[in-house]
Amino acid sequence: MVATAYSTMGVGVVGNTSGDKLIDLRSDTVTRPSAGMYDAMMSASVGDDVYGDDESVNALERGAADLLGKEAGLFLSSGTQSNLVALLTHCGRGEEAIVGNDYHIFTSEACGASVLGGIALCPLVTNESGGLTTDQVTAAVKDDDPHSPISRLLCLENTVSGKLQSPDSIKALSDTGRSAGLSVHIDGARLMNAVVALGVEANELAAPFDTVSLCLSKGLGAPVGSVLCGPQDFIRRARRNRKLLGGGMRQAGILAAGGSYALEHNVGRLAEDHANAKLLAEGLSVIPGLVTDVQTNMVFVGLPNNNAAELQVSLAGQGIIISAGFPSMRIVTHLDVSAADIECVIDAFTSFFKG
Ligand SMILES: *Cc1c(COP(=O)(O)O)cnc(C)c1O
Repeated sequence: MVATAYSTMGVGVVGNTSGDKLIDLRSDTVTRPSAGMYDAMMSASVGDDVYGDDESVNALERGAADLLGKEAGLFLSSGTQSNLVALLTHCGRGEEAIVGNDYHIFTSEACGASVLGGIALCPLVTNESGGLTTDQVTAAVKDDDPHSPISRLLCLENTVSGKLQSPDSIKALSDTGRSAGLSVHIDGARLMNAVVALGVEANELAAPFDTVSLCLSKGLGAPVGSVLCGPQDFIRRARRNRKLLGGGMRQAGILAAGGSYALEHNVGRLAEDHANAKLLAEGLSVIPGLVTDVQTNMVFVGLPNNNAAELQVSLAGQGIIISAGFPSMRIVTHLDVSAADIECVIDAFTSFFKG
């Protein structure tokens, strides 16, 4: 079996006996709400969001739409639900969405758009940087032919497994898709990591797209939720699809307040996660045999031998939780990991490989 980020759940978390705080590097989804975020959630003014009465949800949806330069926003339970609602709203049965073959929509969402929406996914092989070419997109768009699905949507992603997609390249891809008559969606689960790392405005990165999905529960540190932003009429139709999927939540303002807090307080600080990832990559690359690669908050560590499982157990004994991947292991920094924690992790790797 191929080791994935999910194949290691619970390892060490239960077995840890160090008694200290865990340093959990499996994903940026493992963060706990900060005291300030809890306060914001506890004092959130709420109402029944299915009636449109929840002021905190409404404020988050407006705030996210403003941030991304779109007309309207919709609060959803997860990034998967947000992408699914986007695809169901863009595409009908027998229509297709063109997507990178290692993008989350294709690899990690249980093919919901196909299962529930009768939508074909047309995967294009991404290059080493996670990108696609305009030629690939052009070649993938089908003629109006009864043998073929109807090409309707292009889905891009930024970041792609922590890799930055440049504003120029995504703009060119989006332009190509549009001139072929497609709508364009971006899975921006970690878009704010790209915004901070590239030093651009969020609305600039979002501008080439009709719709944008943004996760609040990754590096931004909220416990739950994503927002889908786009044109007013699209979001009105997306709201129906959210309801259809059982995603109409009631006093969801408790969660939305955490999301608004995240957008207000936790965007700029993503630079710390990127700096910590860089620090880690530099520390590990000194260890003979290890090769590291980092752009934002994910470090990929190439291992010389498949001793990932032993490494995982050894680190777990020291309160450090990682996913065991081979030949490349993914390590993720986030707001519950400090620079001092990174030094501990480097020390633990160093003594394991001295071994
Ligand atoms: C995590 C992730 C999602 C889905 O988010 P969930 O909230 O886990 O459903 C979608 N796209 C990308 C690129 C992601 O990394």
